[in-house]
Amino acid sequence: MIREKVTLRSILNRIDGRGYKAYKDIAGQYTFEQFDLYIDHVQGDPFASPSRIRVRLPNKIAGLPQDLYNSEIRKTALEDYLTRQIYRQIGLICKNNRGTGKSGRISIQRCGQEILKRTSVVITSDFIEARLTMGLPAAGRTILARQAEEMLFNELPKIIERSLYYNNLDKSRLKNHVLVCEDQHFLRQQLEKYNIVAFIANGSILPRESGVSDKPLKDNVKKFISPPSLEIEISLPNGGPIKGMGIPQGVTLIVGGGYHGKSTLLRAIERGVYNHIPGDGREYVVTVPSGVKVRAEDGRRIEQVDISPFISNLPNNVDTTKFSTDNASGSTSQAANIIEALEVESKLLLLDEDTSATNFMIRDARMQELVRDEKEPITPFIDRVRQIYNKLGVSTILVLGGSGDYFDVADRVIMMDNYMPRDVTLQAKEISRQIPVLRQTKDQGCDFHITPRIPMPHSLSLEGRKTKVRTRGVDTIQYGLTSLELDYVEQLIDVNQTQAVALIIQYALKKFIDGHRTLNSIIDNVLRDIDTYGLDVISPFYGQHPGEYALPRKQEIAAAINRLRVLQVRY
Ligand code: ADP
Ligand code: MG
Repeated sequence: MIREKVTLRSILNRIDGRGYKAYKDIAGQYTFEQFDLYIDHVQGDPFASPSRIRVRLPNKIAGLPQDLYNSEIRKTALEDYLTRQIYRQIGLICKNNRGTGKSGRISIQRCGQEILKRTSVVITSDFIEARLTMGLPAAGRTILARQAEEMLFNELPKIIERSLYYNNLDKSRLKNHVLVCEDQHFLRQQLEKYNIVAFIANGSILPRESGVSDKPLKDNVKKFISPPSLEIEISLPNGGPIKGMGIPQGVTLIVGGGYHGKSTLLRAIERGVYNHIPGDGREYVVTVPSGVKVRAEDGRRIEQVDISPFISNLPNNVDTTKFSTDNASGSTSQAANIIEALEVESKLLLLDEDTSATNFMIRDARMQELVRDEKEPITPFIDRVRQIYNKLGVSTILVLGGSGDYFDVADRVIMMDNYMPRDVTLQAKEISRQIPVLRQTKDQGCDFHITPRIPMPHSLSLEGRKTKVRTRGVDTIQYGLTSLELDYVEQLIDVNQTQAVALIIQYALKKFIDGHRTLNSIIDNVLRDIDTYGLDVISPFYGQHPGEYALPRKQEIAAAINRLRVLQVRY
């Protein structure tokens, strides 16, 4: 039933001063002059999750030009811009706390430096819809209807007017946001054509403000400039020609002294799977979409992963072709992380020595002499990295300061020198010749056959359990009785992505985890549904305010499922 705005006002008048539960009466749909308001969910008390509302505005009224959303990528960029605009206007207009608990707050998803597909603002051919939450105000448990009225009838329309009406927006800034995002997307699609796995534009700003801020570093920044030998030029649809460093497919080392910017470069490449807002400094740092950071992660759970390319002959005859543990070591966890990335079709592995297990990366000649091969279960990454490229076509970018043995297996060596990259491939190869490596290459015979695993539905079922699925921050999902730790899934970057992952597991369980489909195909199916029906589809509240979600990649969804302590698979 659609009601007039005056009806909402009279309900508020009626319930003023009553117990909080009476707020339930305002649920429903109301027509305002310029938009429709949907009050989809009314919270149970002032401390509960805030009430969920939607504002739907016809395109004719918003007046946003169609060419700002006539493709998927433009639409995502525009929705992102509008979400940020609403966030900013809430900060300026909403008086915020008025009463107990969350009383008086209005909010929308908070975006970081990346442009992600979100459920916060959705544009269709007819309308724009913003999904907000609102803390319905109370003193203790007594309804403060005057305050609610102020929020719904003054603040909300003002926020909407200043955020979604094209004529009130900074038109050139908005256009730039959309076109820069489109250029990044285009650039990423070009990588394969140029036989490169990452591109870092000249002039990029890679370092971040601090360990806790993802904003660009402002003072004493050295902007990135490609070494001439690796420089390529790509023509962007909107921005014209752009030059920068192309990292070729194959095995690339990033070397250099400590504190010279190696990890900073790798981190920018890790984030290059996402698009960035103008002014971030990494707008034109792009990486193949499936690139995965792999690191050591001791303590993680592993469920029947074939880590035998890296680890075999464990004490007690443990089978490493179906290796399971509740408490992985540094090397077994890193091996599993690599195999799992390959299982979901990653075409690029990113490793940093800072976060790798030393015994997984290298064994030198002296250690080989002391600990004989038959006693050492690990085939280090150095003996596999070429096979991963030659047999599977999967490239690696590796940050290293400590081991020159890798010169032998690298196609390219880039040295970071005072934050500036230099192509030192020739010198490194020359050193390889002059100082031969004494270590023995461990058996080369490994075909890297990745056997797809099939998740078993009963292992993930939450039926009959009281505890449900909740997320805490970016890094933790409480899944039934088990806690899923995602701290080391470094390309999961946004709390709303984590929330989406939690829902996607349940969505997949309902629709695709059937004991027959492989993990890879399950996630492909989910992502296809999202493509077809929008990100809202994962929500049990489809058709209403779906909740606050941002789209994760296939690789992060897989990483979450792989780390679930209850997961069981079959082959
Ligand atoms: P490495 O991995 O080589 O030891 P890092 O990448 O950790 O070095 O960088 C060391 C420090 O230098 C960090 O504080 C980082 O923010 C800063 N830094 C990195 N790149 C630049 C740059 N281009 N300009 C200014 N500072 C930088
Ligand atoms: Mg480092």
